[in-house]
Amino acid sequence: MNSTLLEAHCCELKALDTEFLLFTEVAAVLNWDQEVLLPTDAVERRSEQLSLLSKLAHAKITDPRIGAVLDELTCHSDELSEKDADYARCMRRQYDVNSKLPSSLVGELTQVSGVAQAVWTQARKNNDFASFAPYLEKIIELLRQKALFLNPHEKPYNVLLDLYEPGVTMSVLDTLFVQTEKPLVQIVQNVMKKQGKKPAFLTDLYSIDLQDAFARKVMYKMGYDTNRGRLDLSVHPFTTVLGNNDVRITTRYDENMLLSGLFSVIHETGHALYEQNIDSQLANTSLCMGVSMGIHESQSRMWENMFARSKPFWTYWYPELQKCFPVQLQHVPLDEWYRGVNYISPSHIRVDADELTYTLHIMLRYEIEKALIDGSLPVKEVQEVWNEQSQKLLGIKPETDSLGVLQDVHWAAGLFGYFPSYALGNYYAAQFVETMKKDIQLDTALAGGHFNDILQWLTKNILSYGSRKFPAELIRNVSGAPLSVQPFLDYISAKYKDFA
Ligand code: ZN
Repeated sequence: MNSTLLEAHCCELKALDTEFLLFTEVAAVLNWDQEVLLPTDAVERRSEQLSLLSKLAHAKITDPRIGAVLDELTCHSDELSEKDADYARCMRRQYDVNSKLPSSLVGELTQVSGVAQAVWTQARKNNDFASFAPYLEKIIELLRQKALFLNPHEKPYNVLLDLYEPGVTMSVLDTLFVQTEKPLVQIVQNVMKKQGKKPAFLTDLYSIDLQDAFARKVMYKMGYDTNRGRLDLSVHPFTTVLGNNDVRITTRYDENMLLSGLFSVIHETGHALYEQNIDSQLANTSLCMGVSMGIHESQSRMWENMFARSKPFWTYWYPELQKCFPVQLQHVPLDEWYRGVNYISPSHIRVDADELTYTLHIMLRYEIEKALIDGSLPVKEVQEVWNEQSQKLLGIKPETDSLGVLQDVHWAAGLFGYFPSYALGNYYAAQFVETMKKDIQLDTALAGGHFNDILQWLTKNILSYGSRKFPAELIRNVSGAPLSVQPFLDYISAKYKDFA
């Protein structure tokens, strides 16, 4: 094919892709509004608006012209530039996945999950699992249908996993989790035996205005571009992309939990830095987004845990924090603060979990959602299994469903197969950082506040690629090895040796 014709095909593909992206961005605006500003009684109408948009976006990404252009490009794949070949591969995946799904199912899932989230909010408030159970059943049924449409020859849960983390299956996760569980539980037990009482300064009273001012300073210093984003408040912290130059984050603050608000801002800034530092040549295409939820979580969890819970990070920031909160912190030395930031305590709520027990929370959810999707666990028995698993893995049993099975929004939102991304994020992050340390003096950069050196390394090796490289390819390109739990286990055993 002559190069002008190839170029024309690529241009047409980009034009069709742009229309699809515009619809998804409008939906993101409505979603953001729902989480940040929407009056409660408007939820049902909002679900209808979003349902309509999801169907319109679906029609755009399944436009037969996209399929026809991709077929043309596939026939001449050896003539494409590397970037265009990556683009064709990414669009092929999106087109194939969406074309297999009937528009009615896409709309119904959006509608049902919109209402289910509102029901879940009330159920959690009232500690009333029974009112949410029928919605959960409906969502599971719709997701099974979805998996069947996508790949009738594969186990449904594997099909769902692949949507969030291409290439990762139950057998991969089973192996990773088995390799993690024993050493992780051992480290948790060792630390808990030795670490002593929870420091009182962790739950002192901290003004929310001052918390916000400090968190914003850290956010700016990390490199978040506020000309292309903003920070607001919401019940659940999240990051969302409303357009190439509009990557927003949210957080929540609690007067008695200084770390919760601060670490949420750092976590979400890690996500936002990914989206804000993709190669600008990929702007306004489907390549201009994080490649998978696991890689995304690697960025947020790397900043939150591996950097912001490190001694060098606080060597730089602690004097400033003490200046903000002299009454609470002036007599607390850096060493004590550092231990407090890394205090290990198995607790019920995943989002407030410490760095070590967090992965155990994910294992619990993974086992349960696998069983819910394959039908071996009926919805009515979920609470009981949740409580048993919590006892087994964390050594504690929730007294209420709000502290247990009702705590997360994911299942109400139809996000089955998503939870493992958080644990994968820990593994990817540790493996990335192991390589980063060969190239830059990480501790020196953190202690000196030279966060730009870190961001530059991340951008060059990971962020700039957007969705050009699949996770398995990316981790191998960066670290020279396939994904492994070893760097994570090495990292936690080295760090927590100091505490045990
Ligand atoms: Zn996250």
